[in-house]
Amino acid sequence: MNVFKLEDHPHRRYNPLTGEWVLVSPHRANRPWQGQVEKKEDEELPRYDPDCYLCPGNIRAGGKKNPDYKDTFVFTNDFSSLLSDTPTGRMDENGLFLAESEQGLCKVICFSPRHDLTIPQMSIDNIKKVIKDWAQEYEELGKIDYINHVQIFENKGSIMGCSNPHPHCQIWAQKSLPVEIIKEQKHLSEYYDHYGCTLLSAYLEAELLKQERIICTNDTFVALVPFWAVWPFEAMVICRQPVKNIASFSDKEKTDLADIYKQLTVRYDNLFETSFPYSMGFHQAPADRKEHPEWHLHMHFYPPLLRSATVKKFMVGYEMLANPQRDITAEQSAFRLRSLSNVHYTSK
Ligand code: ZN
Repeated sequence: MNVFKLEDHPHRRYNPLTGEWVLVSPHRANRPWQGQVEKKEDEELPRYDPDCYLCPGNIRAGGKKNPDYKDTFVFTNDFSSLLSDTPTGRMDENGLFLAESEQGLCKVICFSPRHDLTIPQMSIDNIKKVIKDWAQEYEELGKIDYINHVQIFENKGSIMGCSNPHPHCQIWAQKSLPVEIIKEQKHLSEYYDHYGCTLLSAYLEAELLKQERIICTNDTFVALVPFWAVWPFEAMVICRQPVKNIASFSDKEKTDLADIYKQLTVRYDNLFETSFPYSMGFHQAPADRKEHPEWHLHMHFYPPLLRSATVKKFMVGYEMLANPQRDITAEQSAFRLRSLSNVHYTSK
């Protein structure tokens, strides 16, 4: 009589990339948009801020002076979390006190000389310059003999702990593989060994047939809310082809990457008519000079907002101690994002 339905009944969803689960409670969210939607007045930022350490011509905290850059600007982080000259060493006392030294380096890329712009407000041409920097950095950092992984990520918004609104991202390159990469690599390899194609090729094909969680697409990429999403408006950008890393993209594919990055982030900003905070990062093959047929480039977007510009989701209680949980389903979130305009609300 009572048939299990994803849209009505509490259930767990499996993330085949990480092997982890999320608890979904749709019965609590049957009226998700009746709550008040508050509008936050976005702070008006100047085009140039004399106190910003990323603006052109300014002196950074470490004492170095930024050039008068016109497009993007790449530099080594003055307060890097990883250092290239760390001596190698290891401690292991019966597996109870286990530590290893780590080598690496950290870079910062300013997306634009303009202090007041973000990706959704930039042109495709200017976003493409950022993507070319990413490709070049992945390639060059990957050539350093001790580097095995290059992590490109963007932290946007003070709610995500981003200390400076000047549009920028970071690249941390390191010797060991980080935990999220190890998790995904394990599951991607198992899938590839068993089926002979990448997990994300099969997943994307199935999602394109279902058309339930797609947000937007172009010739090269698909943006969707993954079936197993944890954050209310979590998204992934998946390459249609199983491309291993960003350095392998053609010029046209780089344009398409700029396009999908803009399409998705414009919709994000339009959702609550605010500059939408998130952490974004690339997952791609480790830069360890191995083949990696199992890898399939994708981007993860983890935004914290739940109901408005001021109501965020907290990962506390059950989520810290058991596993993540959400009310609004991935399908409802995708529908909301898909229905939004791809013209930025401030330009209307
Ligand atoms: Zn991933």
